[in-house]
Order: sequence, then structure tokens, then C-alpha cells
Amino acid sequence: MTAVIGMLFTLQLIRRLRQFTAPLLKATERVQSGDLSVRLPVAGNDEFSAIATHFNAMTEALDETQRSQASLRRTLETRVNNLVAATTAELHHLSRLGTFIQACATQEEAATVISSIAPTLFPDGGSVALLAESRNLLEPYVHWGDAPAPAPWQPSTCWASRLGGPHSASVENHAPRCAHDHTTGATFCLPLSAQGETLGVLSIHTPDRRALDEKEELARRFADRLSIALANLRLQETLRHQSVRDPLTGLFNRRYIEETGARELARAQRQDQPVSALMLDIDHFKQFNDVHGHAVGDAVLRRLGSVLTHQFREEDIACRYGGEEFLVLLPGCAPSMAMERAESLREAVGHLLVAAPDTQGLTVTVSVGAASTAQGSGALAELISCADQALYAAKRAGRDCVKLYGES
Ligand code: GH3
Ligand code: MG
Ligand code: MG
Repeated sequence: MTAVIGMLFTLQLIRRLRQFTAPLLKATERVQSGDLSVRLPVAGNDEFSAIATHFNAMTEALDETQRSQASLRRTLETRVNNLVAATTAELHHLSRLGTFIQACATQEEAATVISSIAPTLFPDGGSVALLAESRNLLEPYVHWGDAPAPAPWQPSTCWASRLGGPHSASVENHAPRCAHDHTTGATFCLPLSAQGETLGVLSIHTPDRRALDEKEELARRFADRLSIALANLRLQETLRHQSVRDPLTGLFNRRYIEETGARELARAQRQDQPVSALMLDIDHFKQFNDVHGHAVGDAVLRRLGSVLTHQFREEDIACRYGGEEFLVLLPGCAPSMAMERAESLREAVGHLLVAAPDTQGLTVTVSVGAASTAQGSGALAELISCADQALYAAKRAGRDCVKLYGES
């Protein structure tokens, strides 16, 4: 009897084993092929059911891990793609900045380029300030975004200028905020410098520290490009200035007036307008040098340069023609008006008092010759020659007076 029961039990066990192993075999094959959705039927609560339950829990956990890995991969891929796209766009804008700014002839042109490209790189705002010639003031140059436009500030009030390196300030990093920075988010200040010379400061604003971290590297590259471009522009402007200006008086030089004068005459002729010329010569100038020394002679020339700069309209061209002779071209000015201008210039010079050692101050007088294209001279050389002849007539007439060509 016991043997029969044992036999029945064994048969039952074999049947149960077969019932379990066949689906288990299939399920493991499916798992092997990557299908983690497979589950074993759980019937009863014997050891086979326990194994099936553990198998199901295992495949479910694997399935879950695979799903979250896939989702993580997708998120990462999207972020990398966005980053690549953003970086590519930023590099593109940076390279555009370089291209355009290199083609700029003046700082004003460069400011227009910077203010159109900078907002694409730093949409939350920023500014560029340039060190004034006096080197004790940073003056607003370009400004974009919502941040308030900074007023001129002293280099010592900017931590980047003070420390000679980048400085970032935000609520999160507890660093001191520059006095020129009136924003509430995060600010990154970078000194702009080239060949050891400080040119200015770039300030970038973001809402918080995290956003700033993402922009720091770009800001550094932007600052590098700006520094090189601004240094080049400054050099170009200095060279241009040196090539057309007289260093002693700051007035245009003879080369400049001979180049632009011909253009002015042609333009005036097209518009049927006269151009007048005033030729001035300081009276007895040699005496200033001989009696008071060359430095006093130079001071007289500088003061005369200043009078000429302030006495005439912007469209008039005043130059140091040579030694102590000056030439002023007056486009659109008829002979009578030229004489009035020459007379008021002579009077203004008469009011000068030039400091010289052991004197109460020296007075200066000038003789002026005026001529105009309205009198018939068409070419610049002819006009200058007529003004020169009138000047010699003024000298002959006793100096400190004005003469019009043809009326001496
Ligand atoms: P006049 O009233 O006839 O014009 O007499 P003048 O003494 O002004 O004329 P003159 O041509 O004899 O003298 C011009 C002097 O100007 C001679 C020259 O040494 C001086 N001079 C020319 N350029 C400079 C300069 O850059 N600095 C100084 N200090 N003197 C200069
Ligand atoms: Mg002379
Ligand atoms: Mg003279």
C-alpha cells in the first residue's frame, strides 16, 4: 500500500515537474533573446510556484532596469544633441563676431556689431565698458538685455579689474558684487586686455549661478575675441590719427587737407557752392623762440591750434600747413562770410595770453589772407596760392589784420 502511495506521489511530482520545466525553458529562451516581458504562470504555493514567482520578480526588475536605462539614454542623447546644437550655434555666432568686427573701421561700427551679436550668445544681458584714455575711468561702450545701463565707474570698484582676472558674483557663491553691477542674479566680469594692456571689462548676466556656469567658457572666448578686435581697432585709429594729424596742435596736417580739400572743392562745385580758404601766419613768431625759448614757441602754436579747433564749424577743415602757418577751408562759405570769420579769428587770437617765464603772459597776433572759389580759382592749389598772396598783403599792411585776395 505504501509502495503504491509512493509511486502515485512520484508520478504526481514528475507531472508537476514537466508542467513547470516546459514553460520555464521557453521563458528562459525568450529572456535570452532579450524579451523581458515574459512571465511564468504561478499556480498554487509549492516550491515551483515560489521559483516562478522569483523568476517573474527577476524579469520584472530586469525589465524595469532596461526601461529606465533606455529612458536615461534617451534623455542623455537629447541633452547631448541640444548641447552640440547650442555649442555649434554659439561657435557660429562667435565666428560671425570675429568676421564682422575685423571688417570694422571704427569703434562705433564695432559697437553696432557687438550689440547685434552679443544678445544671441548671452540673452540675459551684459555690457562692455572701455578704459578711458585717462585710464582712471571705465566708460559704458555696449550694453544689451534687461540689466540697467551702467554709469561710468572707476576701475577700483570692479573686482575683475582689481584682481586682474575673471570675477563671478551670485547669491549662491557669496562673492562680493562689483559696485557697477546693479543686477540681482549672477554676474561674470572679465577684464579685456591685449598685449599686456587693459582695454576694458566685459560683464555677463544670468538669472542664477547654474546658468552662469554654462556660459563661463563662452564668455571667456567672447572676451578673447573682443580684446583682440578692440586692440586692433585702437591701433588702427591711432595710426590713422597719426597719419592725418599734427602731433603738436592736434589739427589736421598738410597731407590731409591736400587730399580732402580737393574732394571738398569738387563736391562744392557740384552743388554750385563756393569754398573759401584762410591762410594764417603768426606775426613775429621767431621772436617767441628767440626771446623765450622753443618750448614757449611750441606753447603758442598749441594755443593757436586750440583756438582754431573751437572757432570753426565741424564741416570746416583747419590744418597746420607748416611751421607757424595754418590753413582753414570753409566749404559753402562766400568771400564776405570768410572775411567775417577771419576777423573774429584774429580777434580771438588777440585775446590769448600765453604763459612764459619772467613775463605777465605773452600776447599773440596773426595776419590772415582770405580767398574764395567764388573769385574764380577752381583748383585747390590755386585757391591756396590766392589765400597766400592775400596773407602777404596783410603782412605788408602792417600785420595783425585780414586781407581778401584781390582787394589789397
Ligand atoms: P612774420 O611776422 O613775418 O611771419 O615773422 P615770423 O618771425 O613769424 O616769420 P619767420 O618765417 O621768420 O619765422 C618763423 C619761425 O617759426 C621760424 C621757425 O624756427 C619757427 N618754427 C617753425 N616751426 C616751429 C615749431 O614747430 N616750433 C617752434 N617753436 N618754432 C617753429
Ligand atoms: Mg611764416
Ligand atoms: Mg610768421
